[in-house]
Amino acid sequence: MKNIPLVMILFGGSGDLAHRKLYPALFNLYEQGLIHDNFAVIATARRPWSHEYLREQVSDAIHETHEVVDENEISAFASHFYYQSHDVTNVEHYVTLKQLAHDLDEKYSAQGNRLFYMAMAPRFFGTIATHINDQHLTGSGFNRIVVEKPFGRDLASAEELNKQITASFKENEIFRIDHYLGKEMVQNILPLRFTNPLIKNIWNSDNIQNIQVTLAERLGVEARGGYYETSGALRDMVQNHIFQIITLLAMPEPKDISAASIHEAKKKLLDSLIIPDKDVIKKHFVRGQYAGSDTTFAYKNEPNVDENSTTETFAAGEVKFTEGPVAGVPIYFRTGKEFKEKKNRIDIVLKHINTPYGKAHSNNITIVIDPKSEIFITINGKRISEPGIRRENLDYTFSKEELAQVPDGYERLLHDVIVNDSTNFTEWSELKRYWQFIDAVESAWDEENKSGKPDIPQYIPYRMGPKEANDIFECATAHWIYE
Ligand code: NAD
Repeated sequence: MKNIPLVMILFGGSGDLAHRKLYPALFNLYEQGLIHDNFAVIATARRPWSHEYLREQVSDAIHETHEVVDENEISAFASHFYYQSHDVTNVEHYVTLKQLAHDLDEKYSAQGNRLFYMAMAPRFFGTIATHINDQHLTGSGFNRIVVEKPFGRDLASAEELNKQITASFKENEIFRIDHYLGKEMVQNILPLRFTNPLIKNIWNSDNIQNIQVTLAERLGVEARGGYYETSGALRDMVQNHIFQIITLLAMPEPKDISAASIHEAKKKLLDSLIIPDKDVIKKHFVRGQYAGSDTTFAYKNEPNVDENSTTETFAAGEVKFTEGPVAGVPIYFRTGKEFKEKKNRIDIVLKHINTPYGKAHSNNITIVIDPKSEIFITINGKRISEPGIRRENLDYTFSKEELAQVPDGYERLLHDVIVNDSTNFTEWSELKRYWQFIDAVESAWDEENKSGKPDIPQYIPYRMGPKEANDIFECATAHWIYE
């Protein structure tokens, strides 16, 4: 499909996400011709920018992310951008916005198609959705809305937000974005599972002992302590990214790869998600906060963080399902800030078998998502000149040229919104289950906080998080594969 007509209204046009991700992604889609002559972007934010200034910003964003650029292409692209100074709480501003969208629709023959993108602090999402509805901002063609994370901060607030958005948009017009679903190796999970008999046939509870998902960050909260205090690792990383990855790892085989079939398989799995009770949470979940060092602040001493804060910068736990190929298999996750390195990876740990050679390691399948894309399988073979078994890796890696072709997650996902493919977006029924799980853990932790003795180990920065996370396994011999 080429040159899809649309007027995009971007709330948060002066923000970090717009600058670093959305403008470069839109430029690449423009270069591919997906949007070309018949599109306009209205960027809104509070600052009093002019159209010209916005266009300079767009051009800078493209120079910062592209090595070789054709200046004429950039100016042609940037000429489609318009700025409106807008306070999302001021109803009058939506009236002006509507008029501008209408005028640009005529100018660019956009056929009444509207794409709204909420790239702002999540506390504004509900207000924006309400005013899109009461000021009738939707167009006469297609209407779609992209909602950034986090979608609510618990099930009740997510339900409220969903109600505000569904007042103007149908479920199939709402694109709840999770940029992890745009990552190369996350998109590779289903092909890996379902096109290899070697992998598909062992992907079950007879053969898999446990699954481990680690999303580790090197950075601390930096200047975002104020926001982080309202979130924590569980809400910031587990409710969305970790659960999306776990769903792809545990879902049954879809009938085909249409969006409808993939969501149907996910739903089937998530209906069987076990919501953990207090005992399970006590035994198999751990939270922590990074301590300080000679050169870095402890989390509690970061700017805008309460010195008695109980917000976790690390969370680990266990997820289980009663249906699907890995029903009953423990799926462990951990995520945290100030780890020894940035690393997003999945380890599938196979059960041990008896061998005529005595003890041998079992096989692990590892999918590395970041910082590089890689799959490796540990495999046993004979030693060359002495008796015994050695362990090697079978590697699936990308060449430098291939890696250079991998589009950014935002480019992929914006492309999907524009062509109306909802495969890699979160449906409401899925999100609801994730929040039910998170709410159960938050509520157990809240209770512990109220007891006055919360168990929140302080961990040494730039290592592997709190040592207590090594004790969450059901099986005494299990351990984190990535150490
Ligand atoms: P940001 O703080 O850099 O930008 C916020 C934008 O909102 C700015 O344009 C600001 O002018 C505007 N704004 C604030 N208050 C306003 C008001 N009252 N009226 C009108 N405009 C107002 O935030 P960001 O980092 O760009 O993040 C935006 C969203 O994207 C968040 O939901 C975040 O969770 C999500 N996100 C961001 C990233 C990233 O890399 N930055 C990655 C994933 C998800």
